[in-house]
Amino acid sequence: MSTTILWLRQDLRLTDNPALEAARHSKRLVPVYIHDPALNGRWPAGAASNWWLHQSLMALDRDLRQAGSGLVLRTGPTAEVLKELIETCNATRVCWNRRYEPSLIHADRKIKSALQATGIKVHSCNANLLFEPWDIRRDVKTDAPAPYKVFTAYWRACLKRGLPGVEHARPTKLPGLPKGITRLHPKDLGLLPRIRWYEGIQQHWQPGERGALARLEQFLGDSVVDYTASRDRPAVPGTSGLSPHLHFGEIGPRQIIQAAKWRQQDTAAHGGGSPEAFVRQIGWREFAHHLLFHFPRTDREPLNNRFKGFPWRKKYTDDLNAWQQGRTGIPLVDAGMRELWHTGWMHNRVRMITASFLTKNLMIPWQEGAAWFWDTLVDADLANNSMGWQWVAGCGADAAPYFRIFNPVLQGEKFDPEGDYVRRWVPELDGLPARHIHKPWSAPPSLQGDCADYPPPMLDLKTSRERALAAYRQS
Ligand SMILES: Cc1cc2nc3c(=O)[nH]c(=O)nc-3n(C[C@H](O)[C@H](O)[C@H](O)COP(=O)(O)OP(=O)(O)OC[C@H]3O[C@@H](n4cnc5c(N)ncnc54)[C@H](O)[C@@H]3O)c2cc1C
Repeated sequence: MSTTILWLRQDLRLTDNPALEAARHSKRLVPVYIHDPALNGRWPAGAASNWWLHQSLMALDRDLRQAGSGLVLRTGPTAEVLKELIETCNATRVCWNRRYEPSLIHADRKIKSALQATGIKVHSCNANLLFEPWDIRRDVKTDAPAPYKVFTAYWRACLKRGLPGVEHARPTKLPGLPKGITRLHPKDLGLLPRIRWYEGIQQHWQPGERGALARLEQFLGDSVVDYTASRDRPAVPGTSGLSPHLHFGEIGPRQIIQAAKWRQQDTAAHGGGSPEAFVRQIGWREFAHHLLFHFPRTDREPLNNRFKGFPWRKKYTDDLNAWQQGRTGIPLVDAGMRELWHTGWMHNRVRMITASFLTKNLMIPWQEGAAWFWDTLVDADLANNSMGWQWVAGCGADAAPYFRIFNPVLQGEKFDPEGDYVRRWVPELDGLPARHIHKPWSAPPSLQGDCADYPPPMLDLKTSRERALAAYRQS
């Protein structure tokens, strides 16, 4: 009897899952998830990602059981675990969806050739991107096609090809698991920490495919109408919150594109905002994966060589700690860092502001910020995180120029005019009126008592800005 192993990785869903589609017609199907932290090389999953993964594996097992199957969980070196499973199940084929992080591409290639060398058929597919990173290339006159470094041109090329929609419906019935197969429980993987610091995170999210679909539906039915206007306002739920679901593949970009197209048709018929700006953000995600694929060292090195010798500060532990803990004395920066700690997520505009504060006002290397985000974000994603940090630091592709230094006070007054976001995460400032909330040091002495528990600003925004610009001019 032919048995196929479906090796699930960052595609923890049943809908529009091409590897599942390829595997499900065999007589016996073994869906497996292998926990092998060593495979992630220099980027082992952070604590927040591990919490998410635990929940997501539970949800996937539930969904697979409902369809008549189940998730076989294993831990250990991937190649060995696969070999043992192939032998015990007498499998002849392994199907998977591709991953795009440099170390994982390398690992997959090795595993593929080892399996093929033993006569096992391997079928790999694309579940997680609209386009393979190597498929979108610009024509250059002299040489072979080259990767894009500018988003607008890249996205234009994608749009010209036409954005794909869903390819495979969610299967309702799957072949049962072979009798007697051993399986671990997510608890056995040790993904949850002993101290339950994740309770705040738990209140904000529903990991798993159902949670992802519910979020998409709610967003497209509701917030997408005002997306262009509200996506920059951290106090309102103006964005989709789909990033962790996308990272773990609980939903795929083709599903989002298709749902957005339907929404667009509906909008054309009944009026309202267009989802185009939202779809463009999915384009940024594609671009990030394109960049990391073609420039695989940009998770740690600047894409722009000019920044290789940049005079970042060398000693900064106390300042880095203050930034991480949301105790800088700059309200919008602290609100963002505390939102991150509490929910495992931070609003995009505030990510830019906190990152600019770290790299420019504090002149701490962007890699330190990227590492902290990596550990604390539930949506930590090597491609998006590396591009985001390099963009803000000014050293990446299509980056904000280095001299663009976000002023957190002006940004706060513009995008959080009533101070609702700051009040939510920095309750020490709740008593201040809106006109002082983004710069409590400017409040009259009669109001200073209302924010006595809040630290004074750790630096002067103007002087630190000038220091950063001088360093840039000299580099
Ligand atoms: C310094 C910095 C670090 C970042 N680190 C990450 C990260 O680790 N993981 C991550 O998913 N995103 C990261 N981003 C990008 C962005 O902030 C998040 O994707 C976004 O805030 C997620 O919220 P959302 O799902 O509500 O976004 P929406 O506005 O609803 O957008 C929909 C989807 O588009 C994608 N997207 C949106 N903006 C971007 C962007 N600028 N770059 C790439 N993809 C984007 C995401 O997949 C997102 O879920 C980072 C940005 C910065 C400035």
